[in-house]
Amino acid sequence: MTRSTPAPLTVGIVGFGKIARDQHVPAIAATGLFRLAAVVSPHGATPEETGLRDVPVFRSQAEMLAALPGLDAVAICTPPAVRHALTVEALRAGKHVLIEKPPAATLTELRLLLDAAEGAKRTLFAAWHSRFNAAVEETRRRLAGATVRHAAITWKEDVRRWHPGQDWIFAAGGFGVFDPGINALSILTAILPGPVVVRDAELRVPANRDTPIAATLRMEGVAGSAVGTVTAAFDFLQEGEQTWTIAIETESGRFDLTHGGTRLSEDGVPVMAEPDSEYQRIYRRFHQLIADATGDVDARPLQLVADACLIGRWRTTDAFHW
Ligand code: NAP
Repeated sequence: MTRSTPAPLTVGIVGFGKIARDQHVPAIAATGLFRLAAVVSPHGATPEETGLRDVPVFRSQAEMLAALPGLDAVAICTPPAVRHALTVEALRAGKHVLIEKPPAATLTELRLLLDAAEGAKRTLFAAWHSRFNAAVEETRRRLAGATVRHAAITWKEDVRRWHPGQDWIFAAGGFGVFDPGINALSILTAILPGPVVVRDAELRVPANRDTPIAATLRMEGVAGSAVGTVTAAFDFLQEGEQTWTIAIETESGRFDLTHGGTRLSEDGVPVMAEPDSEYQRIYRRFHQLIADATGDVDARPLQLVADACLIGRWRTTDAFHW
C-alpha cells in the first residue's frame, strides 16, 4: 500500500511587487508544500505582469478572502505601512500569515499582531529572510560561547539599482535605508551570543523625503554579557561594488560574514559559500510552524531600528531624486 502525500496548503500572495515576483512565487513552486491560489494586486496586475496564467488576481485582500473562503494562508508582501491592517484582517478570517520584513511599521503594531494571532489561534510568521542563510546559522554556532570584542556592520547599496522608483521607501513608515539595514540587524541579533543596546545614532534624511538615506549606529553589549561594541554603517547611495558585510572580532579569531550573509570565512579562510535559498527555507519553516500550531515573531531587529530613531541625531542632507 502506498502512502498518499498530503495536499499542499493553499496560499494567497498579498502585494505583488518585486519580492513577490522574484522570490515568493519561485519558492512556493519549488517546495511543493503550498499551492499559489491567488494574488492581490491593487492596480490589477495582468497575467503578463504576474507571469501566472491560472492564478486569479484580486484588487484587495478582502475580495480574495470573500471569494476563496477555504484558503489556508496568506503571504503579506506589501510595503510595511499597510501590513498591520492586512495581517489582522487575514488572521480574523482564520488564515495563517507569513509577513515580509520589516514585520510592522511600529512596535505597538507588532505587539498587537501577536495578540491577534493568539486570539485567532493561527500561525503568525514574521520572516527575517537574511537569517535563512546556512552561513548565518554556522556563524551563530561558532560564536556560541565566544567573547565578541567588536562587530562592524557595513551595509551599503545603491537604492536606484535595488529599489527603482519605490517612493514608499522614502515616505514616513517606509524605513528608508533601514529597509535593507534591518536585514543586517536581523542577522546580528541571530548570531551574537548576547543582546546589544543602541547607544548612539546619526540619521541623515534627504531634504525632500521623510526617512533616512544613510545612518550610523553604535551599539554595546549589556553589562556582564559576552558582547563588546558593535558599529553599523548603512548607506543607500553606494555606487559600484555593493557591500553587505559583518566583520566580527572575537578573543580567539575573526569571522567575516559577507554577501548579505551567504558567505562566511574564519581568519581569512573560507568556511561556507552557498547560493541563495532563503525563501525555500522560509516556506518550509512556515509549513512546519503551521503543522506545529505555533508561530515565530522576533521583534529585536525592529526594536533596534526604533531605538536608533528614538535616541539618534537627525540631520538633513541633499535632496534625493531618482
Ligand atoms: P514593491 O515592488 O513596491 O511591491 C509592493 C507591492 O505591494 C506593490 O505591488 C503594491 O501594489 C502592493 N500593495 C501596496 N498596498 C497594498 C495593499 N493594501 N494591498 C495589497 N497590495 C498592496 O516592494 P517590494 O520590493 O516587493 O517590497 C515589499 C516588501 O518586501 C517590503 O517590506 C520590503 O522590505 C520587503 N522585501 C523586499 C525585498 C526586495 O529585494 N525588493 C527583499 C526582501 C524583502 P500596487 O503596485 O498595485 O500598488
